[in-house]
Amino acid sequence: MTETDVVIIGAGHNGLACAAYLAKAGLSVRALERRTVVGGAAVTEEFHPGFRNSVAAYTVSLLNPKVIRDLRLADHGLRIVERRAQNFLPAPDGSLLLTGEGRTSQSVAKLSAHDTEAISEFSRELEAIADVLRHFVLRAPPNLVEGFGAAALREAFNAAGSANMLRTLSMAQKRDLFDLFTRSAGEMLDERFENDLVKALFGFDAIVGNYASPYAAGSAYVMLHHAFGEVNGKKGVWGHAIGGMGAITQALAHAARGHGAEIETGASVREVIVEKDRAAGVILENGETIRARYVVSNVNPKLLYTRLVPAHALEADFLTRIKRWRNGSGTFRMNVALSALPSFSALPGDGDHLTAGIIIAPSLAYMDRAWHDARDLGWSREPVVEMLIPSTLDDSLAPPGLHVSSLFCQHVAPELPEGRSWDDHRDEVADLMIATVDKYAPGFAASVIGRQALTPLDLERDFGLLGGDIFHGALTLNQLFSARPMLGHADYRGPLKGLYHCGSGAHPGGGVTGAPGHNAAKVILADHRALFASR
Ligand SMILES: Cc1cc2nc3c(=O)[nH]c(=O)nc-3n(C[C@H](O)[C@H](O)[C@H](O)COP(=O)(O)OP(=O)(O)OC[C@H]3O[C@@H](n4cnc5c(N)ncnc54)[C@H](O)[C@@H]3O)c2cc1C
Repeated sequence: MTETDVVIIGAGHNGLACAAYLAKAGLSVRALERRTVVGGAAVTEEFHPGFRNSVAAYTVSLLNPKVIRDLRLADHGLRIVERRAQNFLPAPDGSLLLTGEGRTSQSVAKLSAHDTEAISEFSRELEAIADVLRHFVLRAPPNLVEGFGAAALREAFNAAGSANMLRTLSMAQKRDLFDLFTRSAGEMLDERFENDLVKALFGFDAIVGNYASPYAAGSAYVMLHHAFGEVNGKKGVWGHAIGGMGAITQALAHAARGHGAEIETGASVREVIVEKDRAAGVILENGETIRARYVVSNVNPKLLYTRLVPAHALEADFLTRIKRWRNGSGTFRMNVALSALPSFSALPGDGDHLTAGIIIAPSLAYMDRAWHDARDLGWSREPVVEMLIPSTLDDSLAPPGLHVSSLFCQHVAPELPEGRSWDDHRDEVADLMIATVDKYAPGFAASVIGRQALTPLDLERDFGLLGGDIFHGALTLNQLFSARPMLGHADYRGPLKGLYHCGSGAHPGGGVTGAPGHNAAKVILADHRALFASR
């Protein structure tokens, strides 16, 4: 048996960020990772001999600039580059939309004069709101507490602070914000734009990792969630980490170890030790016991409370509610090794558009159909695919002259109808995804020399993502802000003393942000100081 101040269950990017902040503050920290590599969903691995790629998360924007600065990730080897074009949307009729600095207006103008004006206005609207919400990312949301003690006072101040931040928005912007939280992206986009590709550009962000139609209420929030980010100071932009997403988590691990944290791989936690309503440590699968003053969970909250914390240690109401936590983002992820770059019918040959997020989903109706299909059949006959070719920006991933591509495919059922298993349909669906790209870029299928396909079941088995949920829980209004992961526990403190949440199942949710890790560390350090001040 060993003892430490802090034990962290999981070394995903949030566990690593939390470890780094706590070790930097002087606490002894052990982070335990079940897999043989750290990084969780943000890792780079060889998926085909000689070809490496970000195997799950594949593109950067949301990683918080304060986390990058505080933990000096650039000094630990992290370099993020911008795409040369942001998004490329080809349509079956040969029309296209190409966005990015200095490109968007010109490209939209070829599609619709009306939308040229409308897109500038909508982008300004989103940006103003995203700017205010960015202030919420690095603080605990107001938490509901019972009674009138010190915690209630603290939360009253927090709520007042949050309300104060919203005051910077005009009344019109507050109404927009309300719409973005409650309405469907589809409705909002239909009201503003006339061209299908322009609507699809924003609509895609509303269904990424969101197993719902773009016309589902609340999908507008998912669109907003993807607008919080920035790359190298440029807001709303997406980029690429040289070396893949694993470069982010390797830099975080380096930073954490530099501050003295111990990080172990192949260390799977079997159980959280609970003594008199207090989390007191963990037991590993190999039987090792590690006692700790603070137990911090980087794993999906439902996984924590239904598999690792003994049921008798939890109140019945808490356990019932956490069992209802909705997982299942409905995503299918492929990595492919390519003998040649694809050539799209809408824009043949090489060019900056091949560095962009290439969205194959030419209209909101296409996305809506894809969702309905998936509900009925398990996947869509015409699926939504985002394709990136990171080797166009990073020559460390593939042998010279060859390429790697990420395919992020939306709207597959987390669990297949009629009890069918994803293990029996992986190849069939992977073939469909490749054929879908091939329709827009003839010859693509023939250029595939190796592939890896991850179904929702694989994402659960390999990465611990329950239901394959990329965000550790759907980003629906009942699972956001003060309700993430549950009303009364939005302040990163679990229902047992000494137990904390630092993963994407806590505010502000999924994405490679580092924010839950940062915020949880702040709360743990505040509790640590209070403990010593009271002695
Ligand atoms: C396919 C896919 C594509 C995505 N694309 C993007 C993208 O392009 N950009 C973006 O910003 N976000 C993306 N995301 C979302 C983002 O990757 C995740 O929200 C984020 O990485 C989660 O980080 P985390 O640290 O909270 O949790 P995780 O990365 O899930 O880390 C949790 C860790 O806990 C470990 N663990 C589980 N059980 C145990 C146990 N019992 N004992 C010890 N360890 C355990 C797991 O192995 C894992 O390493 C994507 C996610 C997926 C899956």
